[in-house]
Amino acid sequence: MANFSPAFIDAVLEHSDLVRLIDSRVPLKKKGKDFWACCPFHQEKSPSFSVSADKQIYYCFGCHAHGNAIGFLMAHDRLSFPEAVKTLAEEAGIALPEDSPTGDQEDLRPLRAILEKAVALYQSMFSEYPPAQEYLRGRGLDVDTIARFELGYAPPAAQFLSQKLGNDASLRRQLLGAGLVSSRDDGSVYDRFRGRVIFPIRDGRGQAVGLGGRSLDGHEPKYLNSPESALYHKGRVLYGLHQAKEGVRRAGRVLLVEGYLDVITLHQVGIDYAVAASGTALGDSQLEMLFRVAAEVLLCFDGDNAGRNAAWRAVQMAPEHLREGRLLRVLFLPDGEDPDSLVRRHGAAAFESLLPAARPAIDFFLEELQRRHNLAAEDEKALFLHAARDFLKRVSDPILREVYEQRVQDICGLATVTRRAAPRVVRKPSLNASQGPSLYKTALRLLLNHPEDPAWQTLDRDLLPFLFDSDPTVKNLAGALDILANMTHLSSHELFAKLSVSEHAEVCYALVMTDAGGVEDGASMQLEISGCVARVNQRLAAARSHFISRAADQGGLSALSEQERAEMVRLSRRGRWKDV
Ligand SMILES: [Zn+2]
Repeated sequence: MANFSPAFIDAVLEHSDLVRLIDSRVPLKKKGKDFWACCPFHQEKSPSFSVSADKQIYYCFGCHAHGNAIGFLMAHDRLSFPEAVKTLAEEAGIALPEDSPTGDQEDLRPLRAILEKAVALYQSMFSEYPPAQEYLRGRGLDVDTIARFELGYAPPAAQFLSQKLGNDASLRRQLLGAGLVSSRDDGSVYDRFRGRVIFPIRDGRGQAVGLGGRSLDGHEPKYLNSPESALYHKGRVLYGLHQAKEGVRRAGRVLLVEGYLDVITLHQVGIDYAVAASGTALGDSQLEMLFRVAAEVLLCFDGDNAGRNAAWRAVQMAPEHLREGRLLRVLFLPDGEDPDSLVRRHGAAAFESLLPAARPAIDFFLEELQRRHNLAAEDEKALFLHAARDFLKRVSDPILREVYEQRVQDICGLATVTRRAAPRVVRKPSLNASQGPSLYKTALRLLLNHPEDPAWQTLDRDLLPFLFDSDPTVKNLAGALDILANMTHLSSHELFAKLSVSEHAEVCYALVMTDAGGVEDGASMQLEISGCVARVNQRLAAARSHFISRAADQGGLSALSEQERAEMVRLSRRGRWKDV
C-alpha cells in the first residue's frame, strides 16, 4: 500500500489542533500549561491524562497511553493510519494527495476495474456449471447466501479471461497486475483460477482485492488464493469483514474462523460477525484490524492438534494488543468439527452455546505453557517462569498484567513478592521530586523543548553508546539526537512528530509532560543548555578513556565484549580513534 509522504503528514499535523480534537471527544480542563482529563484509555477517578498544546502530544500518567493527533484518532476512534491522516486532513481543509491510499490511486484503478469484471464474469458462469452448483448446495448454502458472497465459478480453461475480456498488451498487464493470470516464459498468459469455485475477497470498504478458489476437479492445491499484488496483501485482509460489519457492530464482538466456507455458513445461520484470515495464518496486522472493529475478539480453532498449534501461534501475538477494555478469547470446537460442519449438523444455537466456554487468551497461553513444562522439576519450573514472565511483560494493560503475574506466582507456588504493590501508585508530575533528575534526563528534557539550540550540534553523540549501560535515558537521548540530525528545520513540533513513531516516544512524552515549564528567558536557557551539553561531553570523554584504558590493561581487543569491539571499530573508522 502506498503511503502518505512524510511532508504531507507533517503538514497535516502542523495544521491540526490536538486540544480541540481531543476536547470534542473527551472534555479537557486547563491546569497549568497543559490540559487534563480522566483517561479515555483506562478507568480512573482523578485525571492523569494530559494534553500539551504546544507539543501537540498526549500522555497518560496512569496507563502510559501516548501519541499525537494521528495516534489519538487511531486509538480512540479506532481508525487505521491512513484513515486518521485523512480525517485530520479533511478537518484542516488540506487536499489529499492524488495518490493517497484512501483516495483511489490512479494506477490501481484499472486493476480494481478488471478484478471487478472478473468477479462478475465468474459469478455469471456459476449458473452454467452444474458441478459448482452441486458443490455449494452440498455444503448447505442457499441461493441468497451464494449471491450475497458473490460466489462464482472459473471454468477449466486456460484462456477463459483473455477470451472474454480481451487480449491486448495493456489488458494482459492488468490481468497480471490483478493476479488473475500467470505468465509463461514466452510472455503468454494463462488463467490462474481454473475449474474452481470462486470466493471474491473484498477489503473492509467492500472493494475487491483478490480471489480465493476451491478446486472442484481434484487439482492441487485445494484452496488457491490470489498472489500478493498491489491490491492484495494477504496479511492485511480479513475475508468477510465487509459483510460482517453490521453484525459485528450489533454483537459487539468479532469471531475469527479458519475457512471461507466457515464464514459463509455462519453468516447464513445468522452468526454474521464471523470473518477469516485470508490465505495465511492470523497475523499481527489482522489481529489489530479485529480489535479496531470490536473490543471483544474471539478466535475459533478446531479441537485437534493442528488447531491447538494454530491457537498457540496466535496467542504469541496477543500481549501488545491487550490494551485496557479489550478481550481476546480462544474457542476450541469439539474434536473433528469445524464451524461449517458443526452448524450444519447441530445448528446455530449449538454453535453459539459454545461461545461462553471461550477462554481468555492468556489463560490458554499459561495452560499450554504448563503442559509443555514439567513443573515438578525445579529447572523446568524456572524455564516456565522465564517464558511466562517474558510474555506478561509485553502485556499492554498494567492491571491485566498484574492479575496474571499473581497467577503465575500461584502456579509456581511462590510467595507474592511484596514489591508488586508499589507500581500501582500513579506518578503525578512534580517539580520537587525527592531525587533530582539525572543529567541525561535533564539533557533530554532540554533537547525536547529546545531542539533548535545550536549547542546540540556540539554534543558528542557518537560516544553515547559508551554510556548505554549506565543510564537507560542515554539511549533515548541518543535516539532523539539521531532524529534531530536528520531533520531539515529544527522545531520541537516536528521532533515530536518524528519521535511519535519511534521506540523513544513513551519516555520522551512522559518527560515533557512532567516538566512544569516555568518562565524561560532565552539567554539563561541557552546557558543552561550549553552547560548541560558540556557536562554530558565530560562524562562521555571520561567513559571513553575508561573504556580505552581497560582495553589496554586487559590485553587489548580480546578483553572487550563483542559490542565494545564493534563500537571501537566504528569509532576508529570514523577517525575518532587516533585522538584518544
Ligand atoms: Zn490512561
